[in-house]
Amino acid sequence: IKKIGVLTSGGDAPGMNAAVRAVVRAALSKGMEVYGIRRGYVGLLNGDIIKMDERSVSDIIHTGGTVLYTARCPEFRTQEGVAKGKAKCDELGIEGLVVIGGDGSFRGAADLSAQGVLCIGLPGTIDNDIACTDYTIGFDTAMNTAMELVDKLRDTSQSHDRISVVEVMGRGAGHIAVNTGIACGATDIITKEVPYDINAIANTMLAKKAKGKQNFVVIVAESVGHSQEIANMLQEKTGIDARATILGHVQRGGSPTVRDRVEATRMGYYAVELLEQGIGNRVVGIKDSKIVDYDIQEALAMHKEYDEKLHHIAEEIAF
Ligand code: ATP
Repeated sequence: IKKIGVLTSGGDAPGMNAAVRAVVRAALSKGMEVYGIRRGYVGLLNGDIIKMDERSVSDIIHTGGTVLYTARCPEFRTQEGVAKGKAKCDELGIEGLVVIGGDGSFRGAADLSAQGVLCIGLPGTIDNDIACTDYTIGFDTAMNTAMELVDKLRDTSQSHDRISVVEVMGRGAGHIAVNTGIACGATDIITKEVPYDINAIANTMLAKKAKGKQNFVVIVAESVGHSQEIANMLQEKTGIDARATILGHVQRGGSPTVRDRVEATRMGYYAVELLEQGIGNRVVGIKDSKIVDYDIQEALAMHKEYDEKLHHIAEEIAF
């Protein structure tokens, strides 16, 4: 095919720029024309579309956020919206589209594929909550950011003999929480995937305190929330001073890590290879370190596993 578009949609994630760069450069190298569509499906419907050239994606591989901007587009959830998107693609001669985003964005890509535009989804979200892939673009950077911040909190909680309750992002899933918890040597990890008992946590803290432990780091997943309440309960039950910190949106920013840049580049390049072969309606992912692709509907129906083993390892070795 001769002309493709690329857009970022849903929540932003570090590494999206590396993916956009890879898509644009791969397409140009294969002799295709490439259009950058701003603010996801909003820009597709409004015609906020720019032709990309060799220099359009210079100096972005190391930056967080997305140079194409991102948005949510309620209109694209309607049949009329998708038809309008298809008409805009036809007007510009865009035959293929790379959609970098999450499950919602892939649903839009499936709808547009059904209208005859070859769409390829790339998993871009810090939460790693996309079932068809072991890895999503932005996950590694977000975990590293959370880890650095928890390390700083540990310094101060150590100085004051405190409990530090830290809420990390992850939307409905505990993947960021469990990995950050392991990486920071947290005393406890609370996610919705593994049942927890606040009395048991408090009692274990007291037992550890009796053996000389003086400070505690508790990682709480966003899906559990209530971190202030958890801190209050732990303070009340243990008598140890407890503070809650919600790390929040800072976890979505920052320069992407090596892993995010490399995986974004591999997946972006692969998406263009699929389009080059006239293949659409696929989501690209990484399974066992290999690039894979699935039918979009099939990908959306998959179930993501939570690493319970990792969770239990963290618990077992947190003396
Ligand atoms: P994140 O994981 O960061 O939330 P996401 O891609 O899942 O990313 P959503 O807000 O769910 O984010 O979806 C992004 C956009 O995709 C929506 O604003 C809408 O334009 C489109 N979209 C979502 N669901 C559908 C659907 N069922 N049909 C068509 N388009 C959809």
